[in-house]
Amino acid sequence: MVRLEKVSKIYRTRRGNVKALDEVSLHIKENEFAVVRGPSGSGKTTLLLSIGGMLRPTEGKVIANGRDIYATSKQERAKFRAENIGFIFQLFHLVPYLNIIENVLLPVGVGKNWPGRTDARKLLERLNLSERDYHKPSELSAGEKQRTAIARALLNQPRIILADEPTGNLDPENAGQIIGYLSEFHRGGGTVIVVTHGMVADQYADRIIYLRDGQIEKSFENK
Ligand code: ADP
Ligand code: MG
Repeated sequence: MVRLEKVSKIYRTRRGNVKALDEVSLHIKENEFAVVRGPSGSGKTTLLLSIGGMLRPTEGKVIANGRDIYATSKQERAKFRAENIGFIFQLFHLVPYLNIIENVLLPVGVGKNWPGRTDARKLLERLNLSERDYHKPSELSAGEKQRTAIARALLNQPRIILADEPTGNLDPENAGQIIGYLSEFHRGGGTVIVVTHGMVADQYADRIIYLRDGQIEKSFENK
């Protein structure tokens, strides 16, 4: 489904170069649930951004649907992202001045095949947020914010969800719920790559990948 071939990422800064990924090769299979772990600064976020077509590696290839996604045009990459990828972040990344339903509809393009308000409402209902449609993010709890972010990630019916420490700011109960929704997406045929330090995801993980200093330190099947 997604294959990384010797992907390296070097951030060039005024204080010197940082090698965030160091020749990472990895194959994420269709309908895999992969958990990524590693100390802070080990390259986890850089890895997810590279896989999602949001950050061009310095070296190496990211191959999705049989194509090197960084060898295509910006527009094609944007289309690839919109059609295939849902992102969830630790800090939710909701737009503060839009209400919940508008936040969920944010990544939607214009055209007859795109989801609309009815789909957004259905999702919010599924995520137990239907009472919150017209609230602003500041009026929601952390758990509700993250559920809104999940609704936004699911709306375009992506094939892959990339979640970067989605439970980092949540209490155990809300964290469990969020991982539960990821698992539901996975059971429905989706592919999940989640960076998480919590152990809740282990029960669902097909594979756990440990990063250290930009390299895969170990990776093992969890079944
Ligand atoms: P993690 O998510 O595992 O904490 P990151 O992928 O965010 O790790 O970062 C990996 C390394 O790259 C770290 O040393 C970090 O400081 C550095 N880094 C990340 N983003 C940038 C950036 N935009 N510019 C410079 N260095 C960066
Ligand atoms: Mg990170």
